[in-house]
Amino acid sequence: MTKISLLGIPHDDNSSFAKGAAQAPAKIRPELFSDAYSMWSETGFDLTDRLVDHGDIDFSAAGDPWELIKREVGRVLECGDPLICLGGDHAISWPVLRAVRRRHPNLTILHIDAHPDMYDAYQDNPRSHTSPFARIMEERLADRLIQVGLRTINDHHRDQFKRFGVEVIEAARFSDDLKLDLKTPVYISMDLDGLDPAFAPGVSHREPGGLTTRQVISLIQTVDKPIVAADIVELNPARDISNLTAGVAAKLLKEIAGMMLRTAGGGGE
Ligand code: MN
Ligand code: MN
Repeated sequence: MTKISLLGIPHDDNSSFAKGAAQAPAKIRPELFSDAYSMWSETGFDLTDRLVDHGDIDFSAAGDPWELIKREVGRVLECGDPLICLGGDHAISWPVLRAVRRRHPNLTILHIDAHPDMYDAYQDNPRSHTSPFARIMEERLADRLIQVGLRTINDHHRDQFKRFGVEVIEAARFSDDLKLDLKTPVYISMDLDGLDPAFAPGVSHREPGGLTTRQVISLIQTVDKPIVAADIVELNPARDISNLTAGVAAKLLKEIAGMMLRTAGGGGE
């Protein structure tokens, strides 16, 4: 039976504006496993015995956190199951993808976000959560990058899109019948601020004019190639209201897991 691995990456040292995302995994898990909610995905999988929680990466020891993330993600991927990482801020996607790419020579990233996260440099920190996709594309950790939901684009970002051949679907251009035309296995990078803050207020950078929860789930449900790994990032519990955004993160986790099982051909196996 195909399982789904979970790994918490409670790290927010590279957040540019507000810390807090490191507290997210501890807030998402109770929502995920709460008896208040169904464990069935919309794609028809009972996730009760499908989720294998590998706990949180422990950053208390000395050493480079990027090496630790890459090593721990690589270790969890060894078991061969699709993986969902719980951030943390968006900076973690870079070392996560270093590990994922080693196993997937063909890979498309579907990145949902209000922001491109493509700054060549920001506050002199190459690891800034405003920059992971610049680093990811420089290191050729994906063949295609598709960004959806953007609504904060500046001229520097447009230069970066050209430099790296990024496919951008701005929030202003979003439509419910988007066709992604995917050709390779997929990595989903889900920044919760891609959603409108009306749906997900618990983020460090609330950007109005975003996607609905339904639009994000429906977009994920259009993926017709194997979803091999994903991250859900940028929940900031200090900004959340009544755990609303943690609940949205848990719902998106279940729907990504349900699509991982569907695209893995795991129908009931
Ligand atoms: Mn982001
Ligand atoms: Mn963002």
